[in-house]
Amino acid sequence: MAGARAETAAAGRDFIRDIIDADLAAGRVGRVVTRFPPEPNGYLHIGHAKAIALNFGVAEEYGGRCHLRFDDTNPTKEEQEYIDAIARDIRWLGYDWGTHLYHASDYFEQLYDWAEHLIRIGKAYVDDLSPEEMRAMRGGLTEPGRNSPYRARNVAENLDLFRRMRAGEFPNGARVLRAKIDMASGNINLRDPVLYRILHSAHPRTGTKWSIYPSYDFAHGQSDAIEGVTYSLCTLEFEDHRPLYDWFLDNLPVPSRPRQYEFARLNINYTVLSKRFLTELVRQNRVKGWDDPRMPTLAGLRRRGVPPAAIREFARRVGVARANSLVDVGMFEHAVREHLNRTALRRMAVLRPLKIVITNYPEGASEELDAVNNPEDLSAGTRRVRFGREVYLEREDFMEDPPKRFFRLAPGREVRLRFAYFVCCREVVKNTAGEIVELRCTYDPATRGGNAPDGRKVQATLHWVAAAHSLPAEVRLYNPLFSRPDPGADGDFFADLNPNSVEILGDARIEPAAAEAAVGETVQFERQGYFCLDPDSRPGCLVFNRTIGLRDSWAKARSDR
Ligand code: ATP
Ligand code: MG
Repeated sequence: MAGARAETAAAGRDFIRDIIDADLAAGRVGRVVTRFPPEPNGYLHIGHAKAIALNFGVAEEYGGRCHLRFDDTNPTKEEQEYIDAIARDIRWLGYDWGTHLYHASDYFEQLYDWAEHLIRIGKAYVDDLSPEEMRAMRGGLTEPGRNSPYRARNVAENLDLFRRMRAGEFPNGARVLRAKIDMASGNINLRDPVLYRILHSAHPRTGTKWSIYPSYDFAHGQSDAIEGVTYSLCTLEFEDHRPLYDWFLDNLPVPSRPRQYEFARLNINYTVLSKRFLTELVRQNRVKGWDDPRMPTLAGLRRRGVPPAAIREFARRVGVARANSLVDVGMFEHAVREHLNRTALRRMAVLRPLKIVITNYPEGASEELDAVNNPEDLSAGTRRVRFGREVYLEREDFMEDPPKRFFRLAPGREVRLRFAYFVCCREVVKNTAGEIVELRCTYDPATRGGNAPDGRKVQATLHWVAAAHSLPAEVRLYNPLFSRPDPGADGDFFADLNPNSVEILGDARIEPAAAEAAVGETVQFERQGYFCLDPDSRPGCLVFNRTIGLRDSWAKARSDR
């Protein structure tokens, strides 16, 4: 929370903040009240983070409050698991609703009364058309709809039928309650929208009390009005719903009048931000759950090691605008890298080990060397790393027959082992298949700490771990979940899934200090990227996720498309 609060001072300007400034200056609004209104039918993703940062951020900046309200009007899709996950993820992101936790289902009784009110003033009716008939009569963009034959039902009959709908007398889909607005309206949302449907389905919070449930549109604006929300901020697809929300506010004795403003959804290339699709990925086991590190969900990003502050900073940079746009995933990764570069402790890990034996280092001996924890933040201090006669290097840091621009280890060549010594490769040991299994090297004891007293230079500094003083680990490298920038553009999201979105390295070695990081604490493996301990870790089998590489290694691949 403290982090999120400190950042509000640096919040950007946007049209919503301009509107609030003007309202406050003119005395139209006393206290700013916003809300984040998720439907608990899936986990939150990074698009939601934008809406969360906006709603909670605005409330904080203006000394107001932001509610968390679950728009739980559809019991067939909503689950307690999602309710819990949403609350957890918002807190993780750094925001807090205090005591202001609400549910649309808190207002079911009030909404029901208001539905009866509309019936009594002749502005709602029970319709017996089947869903197909209703759809057929709704008209189209250029063609008006037609009135239902049940539209002329009188108030007494409507009230009676609606009460019997509530009492559970009719099967699912037999009838609905509709607003009586205008079947010829140019705005399809105003063509007698459905207010209530029959659904014999238990609700996570109200149990089996209700056999009818309000539509999202009927619940949403009135819930805001009940809570005294002053700014109903939502994404652009609800712009056409605003006249309907205003119609409800005009025709019902609501206690306050929220104003709705729409902003652009966050879209990111190589990424799908649709709960429906993400649900399918989970349901079909295409990923290992909602918190799979490849998922754009907050739970996935957390498990991947992305710090919440980096997500908030990304949201701030994206800003809030009216026009839809597509954000390059590189912009998100840049925010993550920048944050981690400043904060992550450096550790050494060898992902694909190649053993070297330092033949002139005394057998059985070892020593501790000082290593800097974060060159970007010297207050992070130093640690001791243990060196010995057998050391692992990264396989790709050695070439037997190096091309011209390869400056790392090669036969006869000297390199620096970070924080340790200069070593020189003397011999390449191969197995009968001709594969390199080991290097024999010598070290120069005078170069302890990594510098030669005679001032001689080396072309490369390599990371390493001591064979006897390192721990085995499994490292999971993640690549984008989709192999094209616009997944689903040809109509099939699944066809665009990247078949190589995860690569598992089973015999990595890490320095022991890397294992001391808490789950979710991201460290830098020097020269490799940022990694965090995964909850799959067990004693004897540490598992690390790559949060992100050090450089944007696929930016070029992207721009080549
Ligand atoms: P669905 O994908 O099923 O339509 P949703 O993503 O809109 O659902 P909600 O639970 O209704 O899910 O979202 C809660 C709030 O988050 C809404 O106010 C919505 O406008 C906002 N939101 C959702 N997706 C994005 C996004 N990509 N960018 C910004 N805000 C978003
Ligand atoms: Mg929605």
